[in-house]
Amino acid sequence: MADSANTKKWVLYTTALLLVIISIFIAVLIINTSKLKHQTADAPPAGHIEIDKAPAAKRLAGAIRFKTISHQNPQIFDPAEFLALHEYLEENFPEAHKTLSKETVSDYSLVYKWEGSDKSKKPIMLMAHQDVVPVIEGTEGEWTYPPFQGVVAEGYIWGRGALDNKSGVMGIMEAVEMLVGEGFEPEQTVYITFGHDEEVSGKNGAIKIAELLGSRGVEFEYILDEGGFITLEMISGVNSPAALVGIAEKGYLTLELRVEAEGGHSSIPPPSTAVGILSRAVAKLEENPFPARLDGAAHEMFQNVAPSMPYLNRLAFANLWLTKPFVISKITENPYSNAMVRTTTAATMLKGSDKENVLPIIATAAVNFRILPGDTAKGVIREVERIIDDLRVKVSTLGKVSEPSSVSDTDTPFYRALKKSILQASPENPPIVAPYLLMAATDSRHYKELAGNTYRFIGFTLPPVDMKGFHGTDERVATDEYLRAVKTYYLLLKNLNEGS
Ligand SMILES: [Zn+2]
Repeated sequence: MADSANTKKWVLYTTALLLVIISIFIAVLIINTSKLKHQTADAPPAGHIEIDKAPAAKRLAGAIRFKTISHQNPQIFDPAEFLALHEYLEENFPEAHKTLSKETVSDYSLVYKWEGSDKSKKPIMLMAHQDVVPVIEGTEGEWTYPPFQGVVAEGYIWGRGALDNKSGVMGIMEAVEMLVGEGFEPEQTVYITFGHDEEVSGKNGAIKIAELLGSRGVEFEYILDEGGFITLEMISGVNSPAALVGIAEKGYLTLELRVEAEGGHSSIPPPSTAVGILSRAVAKLEENPFPARLDGAAHEMFQNVAPSMPYLNRLAFANLWLTKPFVISKITENPYSNAMVRTTTAATMLKGSDKENVLPIIATAAVNFRILPGDTAKGVIREVERIIDDLRVKVSTLGKVSEPSSVSDTDTPFYRALKKSILQASPENPPIVAPYLLMAATDSRHYKELAGNTYRFIGFTLPPVDMKGFHGTDERVATDEYLRAVKTYYLLLKNLNEGS
């Protein structure tokens, strides 16, 4: 009997202990979740900023009319359009042109310099690009307004470049023109560069500007380029607008897989043809994606937006020590967020024999990788060879390779000033400001030797319906949103002076 009493006691004791442990465990989860709060920036209202809406909209529309197109074929480049745009800038921003020095690089790229009052500080650079992508042949008729007519209607500014990136060129100039008019003087010297071939890799524009400034010993403390904006409904579970500031961009690598084999007639085939061997290699790459990891820019983004998510998501993000595998598997369900947490693998091209009854002598495939910061092109190649594990498949790089960028710091005066400006430009509905990882490449990558921290952002809000305008049909920006972008540039330069 004593034994059974003891057992009872023991069971009671362990149950109590277990309950205590579970309670502590739940308490930890809840406390961690309650600690996950927005890192609110102090953003005192900026006061009224006077921008004449209609003339500013008209000026952007006017800039859209210049067909500053970057074609894949450089032979059809039209220099006159770029030179006309330069003249247009001079006419429309006379104060800025009186105060800033201007120089031309590779004939069509522009470099402005606004001398700062404090020469002991390193300069900053604001960037945008003058060139636009062509309109896809045969789609002109699908545009609500012709792509190069530069129309202001229905509350929008319409045309190729409205988003990418004449709003950047004109937005920066509008802000500078206003500031010069007010007698504003920046503390840090401000460079403003407008490349002319961003859409075709920047080799005569940004690369040449970086070479020139590098040869003069110029080094930037901070750079601001295009690449992020205020998004709506982009991150699942987040209902408020989110201003995503790019703090890193992925690298780019295309590999060619090549299998050579004996040719011959397809009536007497070997067990596996070059096409068969190659397709198994491609299938292996798809079956073995690069591992997902929640670190760097993606981790920072989720930490910043998680406080706006529903409770359970918040609980998961606040307790990554426990939930990380689950969170990662959720993130990777969506192709967009999946691309933020891993080096992606995309088989894009395949070629075998030229005739259906001839065995291929050569079969090739192209596989495009977007490399996550922290990985390297070399590492990707090594891993690809390991996964394929077949000496008959030769792996070589195809075209240009670019390594992922470094991840810029968000604990800097510039980031804080940018965040403050973003909040001040949207007093009616302040967005969550969060860093993020850019999937695409921008011209700013060409300045990595000259730059400390690089951020990628323009201050307009873009609803999902307007996202298709990037390189697509009906590119447009809401006039009010364009003005928000102008205000953000304007406030940023002011806030930088105040050392926010
Ligand atoms: Zn662009």
